[in-house]
Amino acid sequence: MGKMLESLKNTDRAVYDAVINETKRQREGIEMIASENFVSKAVLEVVGTTLTNKYSEGLPNKRYYSGNKYIDVTEQLAINRAKKLFNAEHVNVQPHAGSQANAEVYFALLELKDKVLAMDLSHGGHLTHGSTVNFSGKFYTMEHYGVDPETGRIDMDQVRKKALEFKPKILLSGFSAYPRKLDFRAFQEIAEEVGAYHMSDIAHIAGLCAAGVHENPVPIADVVTTTTHKTLRGPRGAMIMSKIQDRLKPNDKKNLAQKIDSAVFPGMQGGPLDHVIAGKAVAFKEALEPDFRKYAEQIVKNAKALAEVFSENGVTMVSGGTDNHLILLDVEKSFGIMGKEAETVLDEVHIFTNKNMIPGDRGTPFNPCGIRLGTPAITSRGMKESEMKQIGEWYVRTLKNPSDESVKQKVREEVLEFIREFPLYPDLGY
Ligand SMILES: *Cc1c(COP(=O)(O)O)cnc(C)c1O
Repeated sequence: MGKMLESLKNTDRAVYDAVINETKRQREGIEMIASENFVSKAVLEVVGTTLTNKYSEGLPNKRYYSGNKYIDVTEQLAINRAKKLFNAEHVNVQPHAGSQANAEVYFALLELKDKVLAMDLSHGGHLTHGSTVNFSGKFYTMEHYGVDPETGRIDMDQVRKKALEFKPKILLSGFSAYPRKLDFRAFQEIAEEVGAYHMSDIAHIAGLCAAGVHENPVPIADVVTTTTHKTLRGPRGAMIMSKIQDRLKPNDKKNLAQKIDSAVFPGMQGGPLDHVIAGKAVAFKEALEPDFRKYAEQIVKNAKALAEVFSENGVTMVSGGTDNHLILLDVEKSFGIMGKEAETVLDEVHIFTNKNMIPGDRGTPFNPCGIRLGTPAITSRGMKESEMKQIGEWYVRTLKNPSDESVKQKVREEVLEFIREFPLYPDLGY
């Protein structure tokens, strides 16, 4: 074990030091960035193996390179396990990241300038859902729905009204910052009514869907994209799940599954990341275990326990609370500071979170009124409801006293002592 990272240390001291420092940073902080998580040691191991050396363009048993006997094993395992986990008809595990997966679905189903109706970025959508600074907003014609300003919830009547007016080719459900459940069946009905595909992007909630803690859209929607590294707790990457038949164009030469596969390769990617795909296979095996269901349930219990603390302290949350793994705080309204300052002072006390736009934000994307926090990573470290009470109290104390160095010093000391009881990768060897 003492030899871990020895070659790296000897070859490149600067990178080695950064890795050691980053590992220490992760160990000594309360990680509450809602999109982050800690993979298992098994996943860490496989991602650092010789599988990174291989080229394997194509699909299992249909490769453009020789020597893929063992790569076929790992990719096929990833596909089979993902199918089982999500009850999917078809899965492509090659997308390098969530943004690529979305680009690939658009590329498969749309022509340039075709119309997509998706969630507004400032209401919780993702950049790839049509932001003007993203390829999606430049290549396609995007229209957005949002949340009701009163309730903070998606209003399906508004979605339907917009869909009927706008006539999108894709109706997109999914978000990066929305604390409530989605009604996938209602999205599907609207898509069918207006002759659109229903694409769902479950990047954030995939682990909850796999565990049955949130409804799983895979049996409902035409196509579902997800990252593998958020609540699903796998390596950094993504996948696309879909129906086999193309509901809107059943007579095309290619079915929907074939269209997705060729959009991934040769459409938008070259060789897959075989070491990462093996990591996906391992993570999906873990997610199929009964323990993962308990984990996903605990994520939601923890988020609700945290929301309770905020509620007791009069902190304003978008939609008044949460049904999933994340909470959006209006820090401007609650504490009179902006999201950027809130993120910085929390970082000073070793609580990691991120500034975030909230619906009707009075600030800018760089300095919005909100912060977003999530429970997937701290739940992976073994924290439960009682720890949430403590963490919630630290948030409130810190955000009420953003410039009081002695308060921050005290919270930082408390956090450092607390976090030692939840060791992260204790036997990693570095
Ligand atoms: C995180 C996220 C993505 C993008 O994932 P990357 O791997 O960072 O490209 C896409 N869609 C949604 C909804 C996300 O939350």
